[in-house]
Amino acid sequence: MWSFSAWRRRRTLARYPVDAALWQVIRDRLPLLDGISAEEDRWLREASVLFLHDKHLTTLPGVELDDEQRLFLAVQAQLPLLHLGALNWYQGFHELILYPDDFVSPQRHRDASGVEHVWDAEHSGEAWQQGPVILAWPGVLASGGWEAYNLVIHELAHKLDMLNGDANGLPPLHGDMRVEDWAAAMQQAYDDLNHQLDADPDAETAIDPYAAENPAEFFAVTSEYFFSGPDLLHQAYPEVYRQLALFYRQDPLARLSRLQAEHPDYRESHA
Ligand SMILES: [Zn+2]
Repeated sequence: MWSFSAWRRRRTLARYPVDAALWQVIRDRLPLLDGISAEEDRWLREASVLFLHDKHLTTLPGVELDDEQRLFLAVQAQLPLLHLGALNWYQGFHELILYPDDFVSPQRHRDASGVEHVWDAEHSGEAWQQGPVILAWPGVLASGGWEAYNLVIHELAHKLDMLNGDANGLPPLHGDMRVEDWAAAMQQAYDDLNHQLDADPDAETAIDPYAAENPAEFFAVTSEYFFSGPDLLHQAYPEVYRQLALFYRQDPLARLSRLQAEHPDYRESHA
């Protein structure tokens, strides 16, 4: 059957081919893609072109993007979707706004006695329900390696979380997953992290203490680790890793382990 969306997809890809030399530059800048298959490589390249065609990138003064930088951003945005199928997981937004630096935004919290606290906090990124994704460009540039840091994946994980309502650390799970298993794994690790920080606010925790802020941040931070520091996440919270592997349908730890088996100092030289 003739399909308009398939036709439009083919036409877009034919109109905006990715130059082979440019793609190689992107692969070299993104160690976290090392070890993916040729088929996965092709999917990411095509999905990134379609993503850039579909979303509007707004740059604030101080940020100028060329084709390489746009692609560098888009590929990282697509990595989490690599095996998630045809559903339009990023349907909830049309725009990404790129700031030249970290930005201050007002935070609100109503405490148990009903008093509303408002304060300013500095951020590298923000994802609005029904709204744009905001990224500080230096944070994007710092992403892409095995450093357990990835601003793009962090903010887009919030968007996946928001697909079924408010960001609460529970994205729409697949039919072969159980909410009980997800909740148990996440809650136990979240409590563990919070206990460590309650005992000592400066504790050297296995993952970024920002994950202890709330369940939404826990999902976003552990998603970052899943793709860019899978060994650290798996060592600290193996059940969280397992649930994220079921959700993203990927196994970055297996990929990293293969790379390390081939080059024992791989992680250190690409972090
Ligand atoms: Zn966040």
